[in-house]
This record gives sequence, structure tokens and C-alpha cells, in this order.
Amino acid sequence: MSGNIYGLIEAGGTKFVLGIANADGSILERHRIPTNMPEETLSAMAAWFADRGALKAIGVATFGPVELGRSSPNWGHILKTPKPGWTNADLLAPLRAQFDCPIALDTDVNAAALAEAQWGAGTGEDTVLYFTVGTGIGGGAVINGKTLCGKGHPEMGHIRLARHPDDLDFAGICPFHGDCLEGLASGPAIKARWGQSLSDLPNDHIAHDIVAYYLAQTVVTMQAIFEPGKIIFGGGVMATPDLISRVRERAIQLGGGYFRTDPAKLVVPPALGADAGLLGALAIALSLTSAP
Ligand code: ZN
Repeated sequence: MSGNIYGLIEAGGTKFVLGIANADGSILERHRIPTNMPEETLSAMAAWFADRGALKAIGVATFGPVELGRSSPNWGHILKTPKPGWTNADLLAPLRAQFDCPIALDTDVNAAALAEAQWGAGTGEDTVLYFTVGTGIGGGAVINGKTLCGKGHPEMGHIRLARHPDDLDFAGICPFHGDCLEGLASGPAIKARWGQSLSDLPNDHIAHDIVAYYLAQTVVTMQAIFEPGKIIFGGGVMATPDLISRVRERAIQLGGGYFRTDPAKLVVPPALGADAGLLGALAIALSLTSAP
């Protein structure tokens, strides 16, 4: 039996947010569980949905890395992660055991890009990118209504960048690449250099220019590849006052007027509020059930 409501899961490194929604985007119920060891968290997730009745579809927007290939025996498994206990955890098994309905799975950032394209800051654009800049840096993309996935999902947080001339001595904190984007501009990379978060550093501290320079390089790199209509930057680091305008200014300099869209209009904050993660899960569930 299939219901008319959608089951939503926003799987994060510190919490899972569960929800129930209608197809029009109204969220009827929300529930939060801490991300502990997978057995505990995933059985709490399954137990909550067990009491919710039949679902039309389920959308799972998750932290990564995760296997997105539907034909893979590991579809829905978390891949190699530093998060203790979660490598190879199967996010979907408890749901598949309980529900016959379709399940959509994507990364949190791909799902956020889709939700922003549909209802938020990317409305009306064919190509929308979404970055979160926080504990890590992740990027997702929507092109003509579909989220981007190759052999695996995009890993835009790990692109290489030119160093800021006042930042040559820091090795970077990415365990795989050292000074990739995440290794240089994530929250922990900022703390590792300057001992506090960007928003706590004085407004004239060089850290602001250094972080903006790396994010602006990301903007022009993405313009060169995608020529997107919007690049949305969310996440804790982006809450730093003036950071987004510094990124725009730097991207205007670096782009040299070459690309189609002026960074002043291209680079924007997210428009969806506290329910953004659940709306991402809904957007991917809807795209699955409305596909021809
Ligand atoms: Zn890296």
C-alpha cells in the first residue's frame, strides 16, 4: 500500500533530522535524533517511521562519502569516513526492510542544490551549485533539474587552489590532500591557523581575505566548468559578517569579466531556512516519483 505522504531523512554527522511532508512542500512532522553509532541511530530512525503509516516515497539526503550507484551492491552505504563506526554503514537497509515505496538517495549538498533550485535562491535557473562551508566543505550541483553524479558524487570541497601570498606556511588539514579547499578554508582549517572561528576574528584580520580568496577561486573555477546561474554558499563559516561580499569582490577580480554572470549576482546565500535539509530530502523524493 502506498500513502500520499513522503518520508524525509537528513542524515548529518551530528544529528539525523526525520520528517513527514506533503508533495507541496509543507512539512507535517519533524523529529531529531543524535548521530551515535550506526546501529543505534538507524534503528531509532526506523522505529520513528514505523509509526508513521504508509509512505509514497522516501528521500534520504546524507553526509558523505556515500555510494549513490543504484546498481552497486553497496548502494546507500557510507564509504570510507573518519567518523567512527560509520564506514560501510548501510543507511537504507532498515528502510528497505520496512517499506516497499521508492527511495531516493543523494548527498546533502546535491539535495540542497535541488531544493534551492526548486523553491529557494536558485529558482528559475537551469544550473545551480550549492556549497556548504563548515566543519567540512562540500559542493553539489543541479543541471536541468537533475543532481550531478558521475562514478561517485561530486567532491568539490577537494579542488586544488593557488595559495594566498600571506598563507604560504600552513600545510592544510585535509588528511588526503593537505591544502585542498577543505584543507584551507573549512572551519577546522581556520581554527588550526588562528585559534578561533572566522566570525570571532577582527574584521580587518587577514584571515578574512585569505578565506575569501579561496572561496572566490572556487567561484571562478565553477564558472569555468558550469557557467551556473547561481552559486549558493551556506554553512557555519558563511555566517561570518561580510564574508559573502568579500567573496563576490574577489571573484570579480579573479574572473576578469570573462564569464557570463557577474559574481555580484551569482554568489548568494541560501534562501531556505531551518527546514532546508528536509526540503532537500523532499526534493529528491519528488524528483524520483515525478520522473517519466
Ligand atoms: Zn582534500
